[in-house]
Amino acid sequence: MSFVLPNLDYAYNALEPLIDARTMEIHHTKHHAAYTNNLNNLIAGTELENLSIEAIMAKADTVPAGVRNNGGGFYNHNLYWKVLTPGGSKEPKGALKDAIVRDFGSVEEFKAKFAAAAATRFGSGWAWLVKVNDSLVVGSTPNQDNPMMPVSEVKGTPILGIDVWEHAYYLNYQNRRPDYVEAFWQLINWDVVADYFHG
Ligand code: MN
Repeated sequence: MSFVLPNLDYAYNALEPLIDARTMEIHHTKHHAAYTNNLNNLIAGTELENLSIEAIMAKADTVPAGVRNNGGGFYNHNLYWKVLTPGGSKEPKGALKDAIVRDFGSVEEFKAKFAAAAATRFGSGWAWLVKVNDSLVVGSTPNQDNPMMPVSEVKGTPILGIDVWEHAYYLNYQNRRPDYVEAFWQLINWDVVADYFHG
């Protein structure tokens, strides 16, 4: 079995001006494609070859570093493209909004906590909204780690994630990571996040 680089549900320029087309194209066709190809090459002919990506993530503490890094890169970007949408900006609603208010106090307090996690992740990594049993928590991971991995400080199912590697924003925002995080709120597909929340 080989993992397949997914097509995006929208054009590379669909998120402009908040995320530029050149960044999206390089991110998808170079970075995500490389993680996918590297993962496939690393697991070919091994006992990992027939596992789901979720199963590989769950044993990321025992697999070779290359599988952890490239498998995480494959999984994380699949989620990232899905939670973005052109002209997003819709707020969470229904049971997801209720859970956010219950666990963070308000949507605004959740956003502040998530933005802080994104801003303070030193170097390359991700910030996450994570479902842990029936609760929601915010966390971050270095490199291409994610909350599915036993090595993660916050362990659970990621339902929203932001890539804070410089390759995700540098052409448009240079060193201004907080501006990219602010733009991210206008691009979220909350219906997809709710689908992940409900599992
Ligand atoms: Mn990336």
